[in-house]
Amino acid sequence: RKGTVIITGASSGLGLATAKALAETGKWHVIMACRDFLKAERAAKSAGISKENYTVMHLDLASFDSVRQFVANFKQSGRPLDVLVCNAAVYQPTAKEPTFTADGIELSVGTNHLGHFLLSRLLLDDMKKSDYPSKRLIIVGSITGNTNTLAGNVPPKASLGDMRGLAGGLNGLNSSTMIDGGKFDGAKAYKDSKICNMLTMQEFHRRYHEETGITFASLYPGCIATTGLFREHIPLFRLLFPPFQKFITKGYVSEEESGKRLAQVVSDPSLTKSGVYWSWNKDSASFENQLSEEASDVSKARKVWEISEKIVGLA
Ligand code: NDP
Repeated sequence: RKGTVIITGASSGLGLATAKALAETGKWHVIMACRDFLKAERAAKSAGISKENYTVMHLDLASFDSVRQFVANFKQSGRPLDVLVCNAAVYQPTAKEPTFTADGIELSVGTNHLGHFLLSRLLLDDMKKSDYPSKRLIIVGSITGNTNTLAGNVPPKASLGDMRGLAGGLNGLNSSTMIDGGKFDGAKAYKDSKICNMLTMQEFHRRYHEETGITFASLYPGCIATTGLFREHIPLFRLLFPPFQKFITKGYVSEEESGKRLAQVVSDPSLTKSGVYWSWNKDSASFENQLSEEASDVSKARKVWEISEKIVGLA
């Protein structure tokens, strides 16, 4: 049978390119889990994904109710779940003030980390039940959350500190909107959320890999300087960033190439190792990359997991 893969945020950028790459193989049915139904339908059409290979289902990661509703709808569809890709993200590098999810949580960490945390926890049972030979849960990471790299050292650097802000619910009322308890900084909130993504993947691996056989993985797909992720950046940045990445850092990848990379992590038989953070070298060959000290800190991973469980209502 065809595999079923859920991809969050498949209405643009990396998610859309991955949906296309997988649909084209004829071996996958892609559930495009998106907050804007029409945009996703149009994106699928203009990417040329044929109708029998995808379904759009509504999911707004910035609302725990919506996440729960999505999971209920998916279960009702009767499809098995073979692979889940947590890809969607918001990035607000120029925001002066925080914005909030439906549950009153700072938007970047609320969407990128907590929405996906709830989603993957609720869908784990479905993945356990699937009889697919290689089941995988993939959380898209980033080099920017990784302070052992050059790009990860561009200030403001990611740091979770003692997580007092996260423990307080990131609500800006009786707690800070930043995980480490500091003053709001949109670029840092994004990087912190990506550290949480990478820690969550490893914690899943430690807790569930042996028991379930599911492969848990993360990746840095390369710098896809043309995606909507940079939509909120200043115009000059948006103009100069793609050529800068292409010619100076040479980290640039096209959306199409990045989609092929993520599609490999979904389905390539040689990428089944669990607990791995994949990257690609300049010849586009995959390798197991090292995570920064903070992004591989076992006790921080456990703490992120435990606090997140409370916030999303699982503990
Ligand atoms: P895009 O902005 O193009 O795509 C992000 C997707 O997330 C969009 O489909 C967007 O939906 C969706 N999304 C945002 N908020 C929500 C929400 N509340 N509920 C559901 N979906 C939501 O960016 P990219 O393709 O670049 O980013 C994809 C992933 O790649 C992210 O995890 C990012 O961190 C990662 N990444 C990107 C890099 C890059 O250079 N671009 C580098 C490293 C990692 P909508 O279409 O409705 O806006």
